[in-house]
This record gives sequence, structure tokens and C-alpha cells, in this order.
Amino acid sequence: MSDYAQLLKEHALKATFQRMSILQAIENRGHMSVEDIYNEAIRINPTISLATIYKNIIVMVEKSVLVEVPISGKKSKYELRKSDHIHLVCTECGAVEDKPCIEATDRVFHDLTETEHFKLNKRQINLYGVCASCQECA
Ligand SMILES: [Zn+2]
Ligand SMILES: [Zn+2]
Repeated sequence: MSDYAQLLKEHALKATFQRMSILQAIENRGHMSVEDIYNEAIRINPTISLATIYKNIIVMVEKSVLVEVPISGKKSKYELRKSDHIHLVCTECGAVEDKPCIEATDRVFHDLTETEHFKLNKRQINLYGVCASCQECA
């Protein structure tokens, strides 16, 4: 189990058992909707409620412990913040796949923000489409 208490402290959040159960649930399975997180978290912490999970997810997204991946027409998914990567998001089944950033994409974003004198604090690259297995089903 990762040191969630330390992670929360670094982001100026109190390390409650609820928050640690949520982080553990997300780390077990990767990109998850709030319902998925709930189903996983109650196995770790049987007293946790869906409302508590919602509330804590919002706080942890605000404090950049978690990242929200919006999926149009579907519920957002959440993951632990880690190094920058690109998401391939399937708008049919809601699957989210991580792809590493490569030097070429890094350079494009660097040049773009540089010429605009735009101070970049945070970035998220989500590409939306239909995954290979959903294309087979069509
Ligand atoms: Zn799909
Ligand atoms: Zn991701």
C-alpha cells in the first residue's frame, strides 16, 4: 500500500480513513467512475457512503491529488495524479487508456505556450474516439 497519508499531507489535506480508502480503491483499478470507486472502497471501508465519496473526490481534485477525466455524455473518471500522459478515451464504452507523452508532443505544447506568453500550470490531453474493440462491435 502506498503512503497515502504522506500524499494527502503534501497537498494540505488531512489523512482521513475515508480519503485513504478512496485512494486505495483508485490505485487498485486505475481510471474509475464515482460508482466504481464506491463499489471498490466499501470493500476496504464498509462504512463509507456514496455522498462521502463524492465530497472527498471533489476536494482531492481541487487539491490535485486526483485528476478528473471528463467523458462527454458519460460520467467522469478519476485517477491518481501521476506524470503527464495522454488519454485515449472511448466515447462508446468509456474506456480510458494511458499513453506516455513523447518528446514531439511536449515540444508542440512548449512552443505553443511560449509564443503566447502563457504560463502553463496544468495540462491534460484527452483524445476522444472509438476504441478498437468497440469498432469491431459496430
Ligand atoms: Zn470502447
Ligand atoms: Zn490516465
